[in-house]
Amino acid sequence: MKKDNTMSRRQALGGLGAILATTIVSPALAEGLEDKSFGADAGLEDPTTKYVRPPFKAQNQPWPGLASKMDPKPDHGEKSYKGSGRLKGRKALITGGDSGMGRAAAIAYAREGADVAINYLPAEEEDAKEVIALIKAEGRKAIAIPGDLREEAFCKKLVEEAVKALGGLDILVNNAARQQTRKSILDITTEDFDATMKTNIYAPFWVTKAALPHLKPGASIIGTTSVQATDPSEDLYDYAQTKAATTNYIKSLARQLGPKGIRVNGVAPGPIWTPLQVSGGATMEKLTQFGGDTPLGRPGQPAELASIYVQLAANDASYANGQIYGAAGGDGQP
Ligand code: NAD
Ligand code: MG
Repeated sequence: MKKDNTMSRRQALGGLGAILATTIVSPALAEGLEDKSFGADAGLEDPTTKYVRPPFKAQNQPWPGLASKMDPKPDHGEKSYKGSGRLKGRKALITGGDSGMGRAAAIAYAREGADVAINYLPAEEEDAKEVIALIKAEGRKAIAIPGDLREEAFCKKLVEEAVKALGGLDILVNNAARQQTRKSILDITTEDFDATMKTNIYAPFWVTKAALPHLKPGASIIGTTSVQATDPSEDLYDYAQTKAATTNYIKSLARQLGPKGIRVNGVAPGPIWTPLQVSGGATMEKLTQFGGDTPLGRPGQPAELASIYVQLAANDASYANGQIYGAAGGDGQP
């Protein structure tokens, strides 16, 4: 665990270019991280001080948690992500699109020119509304489809509704997941275990099956896996094995669908500041020091993974199939 626990502030930096964000963080960050601005220059950014470092305030929300109630609020790229038409005219469905990596992908996809449908739990309506407004602000179709992915019938309905509203489907992001820390395997009830398996393994199976008949050559399926797939924590017995399964299905499906021209890839985040972690996903001890033990000394923000979700869906990544792209601050390789 790193000893430097001071809250860091990113400095404005010089340089040229338009792809990377130059971000100026005001000293008044008490209300969150969302007041980042996107500068014209793309100078060097020090990744160790770009975003807030631990310690974090102890905080706990009921599952599934809301990004809007986190302190500090995560950065999903609301003010920073700049598109350049990489996904123009594409039609995307993102599960767990209300917050975290799903929201970062939704914002980025819309700014790259895609129409986007998001799924989330009804309890997350408040977060979802913000995402829908951000997609609409880009002049793209924004479709909100709340519902519980643990039900097969809903998974089918979700895809049907998304296809109908978007007029087709060519990007599927299986991103929703359940993560609950349990000290011992003895503390995991059958209901618990079942809920994690249903959300993390069954739902992508059901959603992908429903989506496949609609996917044409050039379409892309992206799964959010985790460093937990290969480097499981002792307190995430059930969750970690679902991520091993996720990494595995991505590789299997890539081989199966590659000949049809459909690419399947995964994103493997390390510790990222999202509602999943503050609603039972991590122990309070881990949460207050979250990400501090990575080589970058801080957790990632969802915005820092947005470009990976874009890249994996874009035409110029056409030879990426069955790949797992990590973003873990230097620890836990995919
Ligand atoms: P998040 O809480 O923002 O997103 C998870 C989403 O899953 C929720 O927003 C919710 O809408 C959805 N969800 C959960 N159960 C559901 C259900 N039964 N029906 C419908 N939707 C449901 O957190 P996140 O960290 O952005 O999680 C996104 C993905 O990233 C997950 O697959 C997670 O396993 C993965 N991941 C996260 C971290 C991290 O440190 N945050 C690290 C590695 C992998
Ligand atoms: Mg959420």
